[in-house]
Amino acid sequence: MTTKPQLTSSINKLKGIGFKTQNLLYNLGIETLEDLIYYFPFRWDDFSLKTPISKLKPDEKVTVKAKLIAINNSRSFYRKLAITEAIVKDETGNLKIIWYNQPFLINSLKVGQKYLFNGKTKISKGSLFLQSPSFESLNQKKIDNQTDLIPIYNVTKGITPKMLRYYIKQALPLTKKLCEFLPEEIIQNQRLVSIQKALKDIHFPKNKYDLIHAKRRLSFNELFLLQLNYQIKKAKWQKLKAKKIQKKIPFVKNFLQKLPFTLTNDQKIALWKIVQDLDSETPMNRLLEGDVGSGKTIVSAVACFSAAKSKKQAALMAPTEILAKQHFDEFLTYNKYLKLPLALLTNSLTYISTNSQKNKIKKEALIEKIKKGKIKIIIGTHSIIQKKVQFKNISLIVVDEQHRFGVEQRAHLIKNSKSKTTPHFLSMSATPIPRTLALTIYGDLDISLIKEMPKGRKKIITKIVPPQKRNQAYTFIKEQILKGRQAFVICPLIEESEVLQTKSAQEEYQKLSQEIFPNLKIGLLHGRLKNQEKEQIMKKFVKNKISILVSTSVVEVGVNVPNATIMMIEGAERFGLSQLHQFRGRVGRGDHQSFCLLFTESPAPKTWQRLKYLEESKNGFELAQKDLKLRGPGDFLGDRQSGFSNLTIASLKDLDLIRISREEAKKLIKADPGLDNHPKLKKKIEIFKKEVHFE
Ligand code: ADP
Ligand code: MG
Repeated sequence: MTTKPQLTSSINKLKGIGFKTQNLLYNLGIETLEDLIYYFPFRWDDFSLKTPISKLKPDEKVTVKAKLIAINNSRSFYRKLAITEAIVKDETGNLKIIWYNQPFLINSLKVGQKYLFNGKTKISKGSLFLQSPSFESLNQKKIDNQTDLIPIYNVTKGITPKMLRYYIKQALPLTKKLCEFLPEEIIQNQRLVSIQKALKDIHFPKNKYDLIHAKRRLSFNELFLLQLNYQIKKAKWQKLKAKKIQKKIPFVKNFLQKLPFTLTNDQKIALWKIVQDLDSETPMNRLLEGDVGSGKTIVSAVACFSAAKSKKQAALMAPTEILAKQHFDEFLTYNKYLKLPLALLTNSLTYISTNSQKNKIKKEALIEKIKKGKIKIIIGTHSIIQKKVQFKNISLIVVDEQHRFGVEQRAHLIKNSKSKTTPHFLSMSATPIPRTLALTIYGDLDISLIKEMPKGRKKIITKIVPPQKRNQAYTFIKEQILKGRQAFVICPLIEESEVLQTKSAQEEYQKLSQEIFPNLKIGLLHGRLKNQEKEQIMKKFVKNKISILVSTSVVEVGVNVPNATIMMIEGAERFGLSQLHQFRGRVGRGDHQSFCLLFTESPAPKTWQRLKYLEESKNGFELAQKDLKLRGPGDFLGDRQSGFSNLTIASLKDLDLIRISREEAKKLIKADPGLDNHPKLKKKIEIFKKEVHFE
């Protein structure tokens, strides 16, 4: 006799799952019945609104109820693509349907039967067709008791959505045994549906209303756990002790008065927050976000110099040597009046200074000075956190252009400091992200935004370049370079593959250096070069020994080259607006008028419209918000495997849900910091921490 199946039982307990199907389901990540129930659809096609064939227009999402007249497989001649073509018919006319690379469909569709097809209409060479629709047999629908909302799952060959629905239906009754891990008050307060109902409705919604509530409940589960985890981390962080850096208002005022400009309002607000954070024994943990060129460095400089003035050490870490050197040079200009001991420490550069001049020093000697506390501000790369570098009393760490500074790295710094206090921590990022995402990705940090740019910045002229204007653009670039300016060329993203991107960059480099600009000096930068090679090429570009720098999009070109006035981007339509904006920020840093040229081969109106936003807007936060709306959160999350369900990923646009989950998490941690009164939740969060993350 076999035991009754449990949620943790293997899927082979279900009817119809043999060895072969079991393996196919494994490939989808489904091993247990619980996995199966939590395998959510990624889309629900609404079959309720049917359009007669004669009323179809191009580029519309439609449902057509029609009879299959003919179906046939073929191969496209030049792309080796399998094409399935069908003709269907209703009372008002005939319609062609095309599917790509799904030749097996021919076995699931029967000529003479009626189906519902749901998909998008397209037009090619003047004739309208339906592209890759999902479909439901009308007979099958009656047997399944399906409503008009048909869930669509990611499947693989050998598993159809219908099979999945059949298995899930068998497993669903087991959810009766699932216990709620959310506290009852939260379920009540937020009017969440029960977990049982949510799981049933996500797979078999009766109507749109039920579906919305199911999605909300299931996304809330994950968002709440995420926020709870942040609150726990934050509470731990706040128990640590930091060195207080007392605010010295006259010092800061004096510092700012000597600058050749006045801070923008946003800079002032951010700086004030930071100065206050530092004046506390709880370590600061803050993210300073602002567009490229918005002036984050000066804000961090005031913080670092304040620490130094209080006889404590501060460190500023940059991702590359060139950036570290640029920061050091900027700090030197501030040090003209302040006269505090600074140093630059990278793999190959070691300098000290007590005014605006720098002197070379041997690395060992510098490390010794740092250890003794003779150097107050240390600027550098990751070299700063090597084992042999020890601090006397590090009180502040600033990390530039890096999203996360690992917990281990922080721990290391604490360990390497004679005093066992935690340094205050400031992270700076030039990637503006929408608020919903900031709360999701950086939920444990405090955030300061610099939204306005310093006054008097010249606008970068942005232009979309269609294929017929390509030569004109090349002529323009050449003129600029003959005037002494420089240009970046960014090569397109290719299927997220670094190998392919490198190849395309190499080809672009060949083309430009041999055919288009044979007399100009051109450099090539891609992710497969060694770090040292990258730095060498960047150095040449900074010194104007290279006029045009061809680069893949994966390479960090976050360097200040004021003489570069042209940012040319190939395949612009493949990038998000935010990323394009980032590239654009690499120019416009000097006195000359700068240009951003968006090359695109795609004439699609939607692409054009999207790129138009970039022509018009120079506000990174606005563009990021647009991206989130048009392209979803993928651009910001990158290819991070977060472990979150597609429902939650989709809900990252929902500020309300994120805010609510955060507030509930805060409330709970305040009332029950150790979660001792919520044992189920405590257990759940332990599992969650292992499986899911946004870092
Ligand atoms: P980012 O935020 O990209 O790091 P930076 O800190 O490098 O920007 O600032 C870019 C330039 O703008 C620097 O040369 C800096 O001196 C200058 N700058 C910063 N703040 C202001 C301001 N309020 N007014 C004018 N120029 C400023
Ligand atoms: Mg910067």
